[in-house]
Amino acid sequence: MATLIPPSDDLGLGEGYHSPQMDVKVRLNTNESPLPPPAEWVEDVAAAVGRIDHNRYPDRGYVALRAALAASHGVDAREVFVANGSNEVLQTLLLAYGGPTRAVGLFEPTYALHGHIARLTRTRVIVGERDADFGIPEIELDRVTGQSPALTFLCSPNNPTGRAEPRLVVERALAMAPGMVVVDEAYGQFAPWSALELFDGETPLLVVRTFSKTWSMAATRLGYLIAPAPVVAHLDQVVLPYHLDSLKQEAGRLALAHRGEMEDRVKLIVSERERVAAELAALAARVWPSDASFILFQPGGDARVVWQALVDQGVLVRDCSSWPRLSGCLRVTIGTPDENDAFLAALKETLA
Ligand SMILES: *Cc1c(COP(=O)(O)O)cnc(C)c1O
Repeated sequence: MATLIPPSDDLGLGEGYHSPQMDVKVRLNTNESPLPPPAEWVEDVAAAVGRIDHNRYPDRGYVALRAALAASHGVDAREVFVANGSNEVLQTLLLAYGGPTRAVGLFEPTYALHGHIARLTRTRVIVGERDADFGIPEIELDRVTGQSPALTFLCSPNNPTGRAEPRLVVERALAMAPGMVVVDEAYGQFAPWSALELFDGETPLLVVRTFSKTWSMAATRLGYLIAPAPVVAHLDQVVLPYHLDSLKQEAGRLALAHRGEMEDRVKLIVSERERVAAELAALAARVWPSDASFILFQPGGDARVVWQALVDQGVLVRDCSSWPRLSGCLRVTIGTPDENDAFLAALKETLA
């Protein structure tokens, strides 16, 4: 007789990935852009709905979007792979290069999905440890890459700690790693440098980008990878056929015409980040420097109590205090100037 069964026990599902979606006034917990996308882009997308052949499968090779992204980065169209959010890029990478006979390396604390998707694909995870400033010591890079990871994951700027990896660390990883080096640049536009500067189409360097954070398009689910052409060819074979729907392909292509507005948003968030960091430094026990659109800090005292007090005042930040290696830490996403003021005022009130 058929029966309900649990998922495979080698998945290591545990708690999984979840970020509470709460109904509060000021939401600074998931690093989304605080601003809606340009109104003209919304109009362009609405018009695109009318142009689509809704009874037909989408362009499987998403030729127009691929070409537009390639042009925007000055690379070849064969060096661009696009998916439903950068999380799906990561999943496709692990489906292609991970698995029970493979391992990946990463450096904790970092973006939880790297390890989570690795485990879902039965890929062994080699965990490196960051130092107290959340940098990657050379000795750890050596220890991790010495265990033959197929992929070595870096995250620059690193979520949830905020710092971009120095160029030297990416260069060292490329020199030491036996397989390929993946740099997750979900927050790349907020940082002073990008690993794309090292991309030449031959070096085994894979750079992941997303429309979710800088492009104000988290709802669209669109991310991509710049990688050597053979890697993109492998991923094209692994990903589900027709994975990018027609409207999404158009939405992404049309967004690239609004690059100027996107860059203005990045400038606003960077200047707000510097303001919030300076004010936080006077309030909190410890604040880590950030090259991203969020700031990690220790308020001092019981972070869980501080988090709840902020919620009670209508401000939601990310409570990282129960995560390994992040005890006492909260992470705040940079919002609009008003939202940042509300956060700072609520924190001042709480810590007074
Ligand atoms: C938010 C985030 C992502 C996920 O982006 P999507 O494109 O929305 O899937 C990937 N990597 C890091 C480091 C992130 O913080």
